[in-house]
Amino acid sequence: MTVRSNCLVCGDVTLDLQDIVLVKAPGEAWYEFTCPQCRDLVRKPASDRDVRMLHAVGIRCRDAHPERIPTVHAPLQPEDVLKLHQLLETDTWFDVLVALTPSTADGG
Ligand SMILES: [Zn+2]
Repeated sequence: MTVRSNCLVCGDVTLDLQDIVLVKAPGEAWYEFTCPQCRDLVRKPASDRDVRMLHAVGIRCRDAHPERIPTVHAPLQPEDVLKLHQLLETDTWFDVLVALTPSTADGG
């Protein structure tokens, strides 16, 4: 059985049901798949109705790893772009960037 979904890059794509994984986290759920065209990981929010329907057709399901639950950020605002522009004009922008980036020393 195939279903249609869409990828931000490629538009409409056709998937086999076995290519889709339903992921459940506290208070939210989404389904994800690897785009068959560009190979990006695509995530789509799943409503309660979507979850029931996906269960009914036998979609694979897993719980989200807490550290991998996507963080929803506020949309970029014009002020953010201005701040970035001003930061990039300084000589210390790279040090600021490094300080803002979480450490990957734990291998994660
Ligand atoms: Zn794609």
